Amino acid sequence: MLAGIEAGGTKFVCAVGAAPGRIEDRIAIPTTTPDETLDAALAFFSAHAPLDALGVASFGPIDVDPNSPTYGAILRSPKSSWDKASFPERLAGLQCPVKIDTDVNGAGLAEQLFGAGQDCETLAYVTVGTGIGAGVLHKGKPLSGAGHYEIGHIRPPKDKRDEAFEGVCPFHGDCLEGLASGTAIMARWGASLSDMAAPETAIDLVAFYLADLAATLIFAHRPDRIIFGGGVMKTPGLLDAVRTKTLALAGGYLDLPAPSDFIRPPGLGDKAGVTGALALAHSLTMKS
Ligand code: ZN
Repeated sequence: MLAGIEAGGTKFVCAVGAAPGRIEDRIAIPTTTPDETLDAALAFFSAHAPLDALGVASFGPIDVDPNSPTYGAILRSPKSSWDKASFPERLAGLQCPVKIDTDVNGAGLAEQLFGAGQDCETLAYVTVGTGIGAGVLHKGKPLSGAGHYEIGHIRPPKDKRDEAFEGVCPFHGDCLEGLASGTAIMARWGASLSDMAAPETAIDLVAFYLADLAATLIFAHRPDRIIFGGGVMKTPGLLDAVRTKTLALAGGYLDLPAPSDFIRPPGLGDKAGVTGALALAHSLTMKS
């Protein structure tokens, strides 16, 4: 039996299944403190023990180096109670090997295996929710440097309509995440895009910033496709606005596929994250 956790800023989705594409039981747990949330996860998984492997696709920053003594620990989290919280340590009671990666790398892997990235050699997966993150996978392997990518913290040019807003990133203020995440949207307008009576201007502004990320991914990595997931992307009209603005930023310099094919929502919908976590667990059983 494989176990997976999609660890997000607002909720943890835990699932078990015999294969990554076959979820047999799942539960959603609110993200509060490591004690509360991970104890609830432990109780859920214990009911399905014995487990062959656990995969965790988590918000970051997180230590994803298997050779590091702090592998699987959250690093410098804006959610302060999660600072240094270690998944392998707190879930040691499950007595199974644990594989850790970022939420976006996990979701990207699931999309490449089962979803909207199956025909892609190089796939970028972006999530726009509480925070903003992106992963790039080449032939099913996430690209990384000394740690996982932090491209949600690039600094797009500030839109003139947005000069008064200082941004909400505790580390950079008006970086991309500080300007266009769900947290930033709530701080700026007091409502989510979906809850606004007349969201057109807000959608246009958020799309302007997200297109900067898409263009950066295109210029740096030349992906075959970019998938945009996360709660904010469910706003009607937002993905189309990102497509249009990305194309404008690319400036006709490259021959890109049609925007409706090139920039897509997750094929697995809300299941991408937890399916990715199960795929991480599966990869561990393949090696042993
Ligand atoms: Zn930042």
